[in-house]
Amino acid sequence: MHLYIHIPFCKQACFYCDFHFSTNLSLKDKMVEAICKEIELQTDYLKNKKLQTIYFGGGTPSLLSGPDFEKIFKTISNFYDISCLKETTIETNPDDITIDKINEWKSYGIDRVSLGIQTFDNDLLKFMNRAHDSKQSINALDLLLTNNLGNITIDLIYAKNAKEFDIEKQNSILINDIEIIEKYNLNHISAYNLTIEDSTVFGKWVNQKKLEPIGEDYAAEQYEILIESLTSQGFEQYEVSNFAKNGKYAIHNSAYWKNEEYLGVGPSAHSYNLDSRQSNISNNSKYIAALESGKVPFAIENLSISDKVNDYLLCGLRTIWGIDTKKISQIAGRIPQTFWDTLDILKNQNLVIQSGNSIKITTQGRIFSDKIASDLFFD
Ligand code: SF4
Repeated sequence: MHLYIHIPFCKQACFYCDFHFSTNLSLKDKMVEAICKEIELQTDYLKNKKLQTIYFGGGTPSLLSGPDFEKIFKTISNFYDISCLKETTIETNPDDITIDKINEWKSYGIDRVSLGIQTFDNDLLKFMNRAHDSKQSINALDLLLTNNLGNITIDLIYAKNAKEFDIEKQNSILINDIEIIEKYNLNHISAYNLTIEDSTVFGKWVNQKKLEPIGEDYAAEQYEILIESLTSQGFEQYEVSNFAKNGKYAIHNSAYWKNEEYLGVGPSAHSYNLDSRQSNISNNSKYIAALESGKVPFAIENLSISDKVNDYLLCGLRTIWGIDTKKISQIAGRIPQTFWDTLDILKNQNLVIQSGNSIKITTQGRIFSDKIASDLFFD
């Protein structure tokens, strides 16, 4: 099984971010206690207690101290079997990386670092209100590589909605970002198109007409640059937003795309056990208060057969592994004729290919994967 741990604190709020976090760290110690309590209380959520992956996400898990990690790892090993762990990842921000932290993380078995670089362009970093600059990103990469924590994935953001940065400028920034990455010979990159959510600072600016959302063509152009540059460097695009070399796929994230079960702990974390989805409350104080009284504060959504099939389609079609019609039959019992009719249309449009039971998206269909999945959805 897979364990996700949400650490809901950040130094400052990035203007595009709609994840759950607080910039007030006064509750950090109580939060660590509450997360440990939830790890204990959720012991029976999934039948298989053998952990394959642990993923610290957020927020900014690199803000946790050594003793915080010690408590969490001790709790995990008290209640779960970690003898088969394949991957333990921590999301970090470049300005948090120090030799001491790297050594601490390694001592707890953390063997993969997700580094939130986003871009190496300082003006864009400032525009997004990131807490770091490009020098800190370079320093972080150098420190991780020279201190033997070289299993690194980088987060990049492209298609930023900034009028000040026209398409030519943004294209050249993206190309420069990819050239810097090439020098480090990394094995994994996640690259996301910046989308604007209403609840964010950028969302408010768009509503106040201070920021103009950029068109889809603009994002598509950058996506193409990204795919071309990274594939020419030997990366395989194994998911719509994820690229790997040497088969170094993200094991934890791949579990989501392969429809495997996982437990998520911490405020706003989600869990999935094939029959239902649970989502924890997105409020730090209420989360802590509930755990102090011995309860996990979550909402549950029981999944219908259509929900299960549609989740499988949505995630599977984003990946090189695609979907298997046998698996759909296992979930649904019977595949309706409308599915096959739509599939024929998509095949004629060269958006998907079918080989026996396997259906995959074509290179041409990649950018439309969500739309293609929704065309195939069960009612
Ligand atoms: S550091 Fe990450 S989680 Fe925190 S505000 Fe920025 S993008 Fe969001």
